[in-house]
Amino acid sequence: MTAVTGALGDLNISPIGIGAWAWGDRLFWGYGRGRYTDNDLEASFQAALMGGINWFDTAEIYGSGRSEKLLGQFIRNTNHTVMVATKFFPYPYRLRRGALVKALRNSLTRLGLHQVDLYQIHWPAPPVAIRTWMNALADVVESGLAKAVGVSNYNCVQTQLAHNILAERGVNLASNQVEYSLIQRRNEYNGLLETCHELGITVIAYSPLGMGMLTGKYTPDNLPSGVRSLRYRRSFLTRVQPLVSLMREIGEHHGGRTPAQVALNWVIFKGAVPIPGAKNAQQAEENSSSKEWKLSVDEVAELEQAASMVL
Ligand code: NAP
Repeated sequence: MTAVTGALGDLNISPIGIGAWAWGDRLFWGYGRGRYTDNDLEASFQAALMGGINWFDTAEIYGSGRSEKLLGQFIRNTNHTVMVATKFFPYPYRLRRGALVKALRNSLTRLGLHQVDLYQIHWPAPPVAIRTWMNALADVVESGLAKAVGVSNYNCVQTQLAHNILAERGVNLASNQVEYSLIQRRNEYNGLLETCHELGITVIAYSPLGMGMLTGKYTPDNLPSGVRSLRYRRSFLTRVQPLVSLMREIGEHHGGRTPAQVALNWVIFKGAVPIPGAKNAQQAEENSSSKEWKLSVDEVAELEQAASMVL
C-alpha cells in the first residue's frame, strides 16, 4: 500500500488508517460482552499491519482509556513502525491550556509512548475558545509531545480559525477528522472538504462504513444491535439495500471486492483518508486491502446517485 505523501504534514501515513473506538468501548460497541476479545483486537491490529496499514486512531475517551492501553500493548508486541493518532476531549471543566498538556501526558502513559504522531481536539465544544486549544496544540508540538496536530468535527469557520491561529505560531493544522461516507456527505455539501483541501489540511473520514451499514451484512432482517439500532432502523436498512446491491455489483467488476472495500475506495477517491473500525482480523484484512484498485468516474457517479436515494 503506498503512503499518502504530504498527508498529515510530513507523516507518511497509509491511505487508510484503522479506528480503535471499539477497542474497549462497552456502551456503543459492546466490548466485554463476549462478542469480541482482546485477542481478536490484537489479531485485527496485526492483520492491519500485514495489509500495509501504518497508523491507528484512538482517543482518551474510547473505553475511558482502554483503547489507548490496548493499542500501546499491541505496539509493544510488534516490530513494525506504527503511527498513533489520539484525541483530547474538551470536557467543560477543562479550562486552561495546561489541561491539554496534562491530558496528552496521560494518553502517552497509557500508550507507553513518549510522543504521538497526531494529537487532535475531539470536538469544538464550548466554553473554551478555539484560540486557547490551538495555543495548547502549538505548545505540545514545540515541546515534542506531538509530531503533528489536528482537529475533529470542526466546521468551515472553526477550521479556518484554527488554521490561522496555529499558523501564527508557525504550526500546520494537519487534519480535520469528520464523519464522511457514501451515506453521510454533509461535510462535502457544506464546503468543509473543499476548505480543508484549499488549506492543505488532510480530511480524515470517520465512520466510513456507516458504522457497518455499508458492509452489506445488516439488512431489514438482520438489524444492528445496541445503540446503533437507534440510528439505523429497519426503514433505513430497507432504503440502503439498493445502494449495497450496486456496491456489490461494482465490487464484482473489480475482482470480487466487497461492499466495505467499495465504500472505503469511494472515500479515497474523494480525497479523504478513511479510518474504518475493525474488531477482528478478517475485518482488518478486508478493510486494509481497499486501496489496490480504483473506482472509475462513472462508477463513482452511479454510487452517488444510488446514495442520494437513501436519505
Ligand atoms: P465504521 O468504521 O464505519 O464501522 C466500524 C464497524 O463496522 C466495526 O466496528 C464493525 O462492527 C463493522 N465492520 C468493520 N469492518 C467490517 C468489514 N470489513 N465487514 C463487516 N463489518 C465490518 O464506524 P466507526 O467505528 O464509527 O468509525 C471508525 C473510526 O472513526 C472509529 O474507530 C474512531 O477511531 C473514529 N471516530 C471518530 C469520531 C470523532 O468524533 N472524531 C466519531 C466516530 C468515530 P460490527 O462487526 O459490530 O458490525
